[in-house]
Amino acid sequence: MDRANSRDRALRDRAEAVIPGGMYGHQSTALLPEDYPQFFQRGEGAHIWDADGRRYLDLMCAYGPNLFGYANPDIDAAFVRQLGLGDTLTGPTALMVELAETLTAMVTHAEWAIFCKNGTDATSMALSISRAHTKRRVVVRAKGAYHGAAAWCTPRPAGVIDSDRAHQVFCDYNDVASLEAAVAEAGDDLACVFAAPFRHDVFVDQAEPDPAYAHRARQLCDERGALLVVDDVRAGFRLARDCSWTRLGVQPDLSSWGKCIANGHALSALLGSDKARAAAASVYSTGSFWYQAAPMAAALATLRLIRETDYLERITALGERLRAGLDERARAAGFGFRQTGPATLPLFLFDDDPDLRKGFCFASAMLDRGVYVHPWHNMFMCAAMTEADIEAALDAAEGAFAELKRRGGALPPVEKLAFLTTGAR
Ligand code: PMP
Repeated sequence: MDRANSRDRALRDRAEAVIPGGMYGHQSTALLPEDYPQFFQRGEGAHIWDADGRRYLDLMCAYGPNLFGYANPDIDAAFVRQLGLGDTLTGPTALMVELAETLTAMVTHAEWAIFCKNGTDATSMALSISRAHTKRRVVVRAKGAYHGAAAWCTPRPAGVIDSDRAHQVFCDYNDVASLEAAVAEAGDDLACVFAAPFRHDVFVDQAEPDPAYAHRARQLCDERGALLVVDDVRAGFRLARDCSWTRLGVQPDLSSWGKCIANGHALSALLGSDKARAAAASVYSTGSFWYQAAPMAAALATLRLIRETDYLERITALGERLRAGLDERARAAGFGFRQTGPATLPLFLFDDDPDLRKGFCFASAMLDRGVYVHPWHNMFMCAAMTEADIEAALDAAEGAFAELKRRGGALPPVEKLAFLTTGAR
């Protein structure tokens, strides 16, 4: 299509004038291939339509929130029904209590819930509550792990001052010795250890959690009287119908949730055990929209589908089918193509691709064939995907690998990503 005369281009030009940098955050123009659309008009099931009306099978699922399909009729009907009754009111509705009861019944370690809007709200609250509980300051967390965009955890340095980053000690994910060293460095000032459910950092292969690392984190927190936090904002309910580390037999004190818990409606949550209840009650946590009832109605409908359907088994099977099919096609085309992490949250990286030029070209070639993939961030499977969608993605990949092969060494460098791949982030 003629991108130069597209609606997307026209919107970008207008955005340039009224939105700093033309776009911010994870969709900023600096981070994705040039031909990726910036603006969308709608989503249905597993598909999205860009501003120019092109339809894509969407392997990003809105970076996670889409678990049961865009515009899911059951979930959206619950949302709309509550919207008609009242959404942002002077106080919460009964749905808040019902939702807290539902989540605490589903998530083994949880005995209370606080609702908020973004994952960052939940992770930042986890840090404050840990500090209030222990009356200590230091958080130990893994290098490169994303926990949100607040000053204490944003991956980019602009606007951040040293004191925002104070009292943090970093370790290497899955490295027990490094975790022990970080905890030792924190000494008697350790407030909490933050853990991602698996290593899902950008630009590098994902890694399943080593059970020894998870158990040691639990043990160290117990020895020191510190709290263990599992950040399930991204992976929550795509690995288990419980906190993700339950699979390893490790229960955190706090877990942060967001993204898919209301299937795209604005809601996040911090769940906690009794140990942290008094501290949670003491921290002033709130926001103008945190009591909104309609997203809570959507969450109750979403959680019902999580409990009562085989969505998890289905998205796991679809993810495994996609992985096996891509492996076959990459091998046949002669590419070293690494697919890492759980099948429900896949990440693709090419061997010998330090500046991601192969990854960018593959992503563009997939987009051209109607499949939206990400060149360096993990993707997400959703329950609206079908076997036919996976076959379509595999056909697209066959064409994309062939195109990459045809272009051989003539791929353009991805200069705009240099600031990220050189470790400057
Ligand atoms: N933690 C993790 C693990 C995440 O993946 C994200 C978002 N990508 C966040 C926290 C922050 O969530 P939000 O963008 O909703 O603030």
